[in-house]
Amino acid sequence: MTAPSSSSPTSPLARGLVLDNANVITVDASAPRAGSVLILDDRIVGVGESGEFADVGAASIDLDGLTVVPGFNDAHNHMQAFGAALNEVRLQPTVVGSVEALVAAIGERADRTPEGVWIIGTGYDDNKLAERRHPTRHELDAVSPDNPVLLNHTSGHFCVVNTAAMRLARVGEREVPEGGVVDIGADGTPSGLLEEQAQLLARELLHPRPMADLVDNIGAASDVYLSEGITSAQEAGVGGILGTVEPVEVAAYQQARRAGRLRIRVTMMASVEALHPIDHHPDDDEPFALDLGVHTGFGDDWLRFGATKIFADGSLIGRTAAMFDDFEGEPGNNGYFQMPEEILHSLILKAHRAGWQVATHAIGDRAVSSVLDGIEAALAAHPRDDARHRIEHCGMTRASDVDRIAALGVIPVPQGRFINEIGDGMLRAIGSRAPDCYRQRSFLDKGIVLPGSSDRPVVQGAPLLGIHDLVNQRTGSDAPFNPHEAITVEEALRAYTLGSAHAAFDENHKGSIEVGKLADLTVLDRDITAIDPADIADTTVVSTMVGGSFEFGQHA
Ligand SMILES: [Zn+2]
Repeated sequence: MTAPSSSSPTSPLARGLVLDNANVITVDASAPRAGSVLILDDRIVGVGESGEFADVGAASIDLDGLTVVPGFNDAHNHMQAFGAALNEVRLQPTVVGSVEALVAAIGERADRTPEGVWIIGTGYDDNKLAERRHPTRHELDAVSPDNPVLLNHTSGHFCVVNTAAMRLARVGEREVPEGGVVDIGADGTPSGLLEEQAQLLARELLHPRPMADLVDNIGAASDVYLSEGITSAQEAGVGGILGTVEPVEVAAYQQARRAGRLRIRVTMMASVEALHPIDHHPDDDEPFALDLGVHTGFGDDWLRFGATKIFADGSLIGRTAAMFDDFEGEPGNNGYFQMPEEILHSLILKAHRAGWQVATHAIGDRAVSSVLDGIEAALAAHPRDDARHRIEHCGMTRASDVDRIAALGVIPVPQGRFINEIGDGMLRAIGSRAPDCYRQRSFLDKGIVLPGSSDRPVVQGAPLLGIHDLVNQRTGSDAPFNPHEAITVEEALRAYTLGSAHAAFDENHKGSIEVGKLADLTVLDRDITAIDPADIADTTVVSTMVGGSFEFGQHA
């Protein structure tokens, strides 16, 4: 392109910034590589050869050949919950390898926690504990008789509580919420394991959390995200996810933004539980929205409402996802829906009619198919161009449903990192149906938009780990995971940038390095398209720019 003409010190370009001598991967198909980027305020105003903007009078940073990519955008994560988890007892498989070690970690925290205060543990995975089972309440009672304990399973679909927590939650005395199960142990009493909606019984005691804690959680998460090159994230459900209702979560995001703690851009999906009918003129369809009719798109470049989030089913490793056929080795168990399918379909219809983008969590093949039925019916009854309804995870997809996803313009939102961290457990749960699991290549080959996302804190959220796994397709035990679904590094990078932007109606101002787009960039220490793909995960984020300002790293 042509460079802007040289400017006097009073020209607006005097306050511009040139990133020069860089290896720019633009993710713009019309000009895939560049050598320098000119930035004015929060926008990209020039993309050209190295040295092209040397004379425009702007400040310049010589990147000495470092690689620049568009800032990463995580299309599905739980940012506030991740921030909260930073202060909880860490029970990830990399930290504790057995029920015994897990119980010891809880005991250690109980010893320095005042009596009666809740102890929360996070990230355990029964599939990866040596005993291959969930801990029990009796084991937790032995180390924490007086403090209520709640352990979050890595999937978010289970928790385990001890007896003190069970008493507070009156488990056994109260009705179990629909779509949930209170597990009964060998002794005929609750084992402490609460599945899916039954988690509400205990979790509702922990919420709402104080505003100051929510702001701290968002701030802590924002710092981590910047260090990983993330400049935008899509929060998958404010206002209530599986019993973690936070009535003032949106206010907390606003407060974090005002206080300078939220330093990345966030699109918030509103939990469908937060929507309600609103008074309206008889000529209008009944609104199904947040107060005052707020729906998808309200907000600004920093904080905005995206889709509404609905839960159709559970998880593969927890064997609670709604499947057509039984889970491997468990005759009679093909999972379940979190609500009757008629209600699921009516929620999709009402939200669609009210103008929402609808993002439905569906992991089992039966759930994916049923959500597509709901979307198909909603679009038929109330046609709307470019609705971009999403299926979060889209874990198991039959070939015929890949075609329906393409035909309906639906965006599947899979998580590449699942392949590594829970891939072995998923393969055990589905056996010979593995080829339907976490498709990527099949989606792209049908022209379907593919975003990049992590579902953090379910698994680690660094986008370079996600890109690594989308390309390498290997489980934690190094077993191949659907190698035919592998995508190229360029495609994975595009997913984590332009694909994610598209999934949030943001492709016109985010996701690629083009004139007019927001200056959200990530500087890497190597060109991930030019190295052995097995080394992508070792890439270092050198610095991260959001809105024209370096917020992390060497250039901040
Ligand atoms: Zn999620």
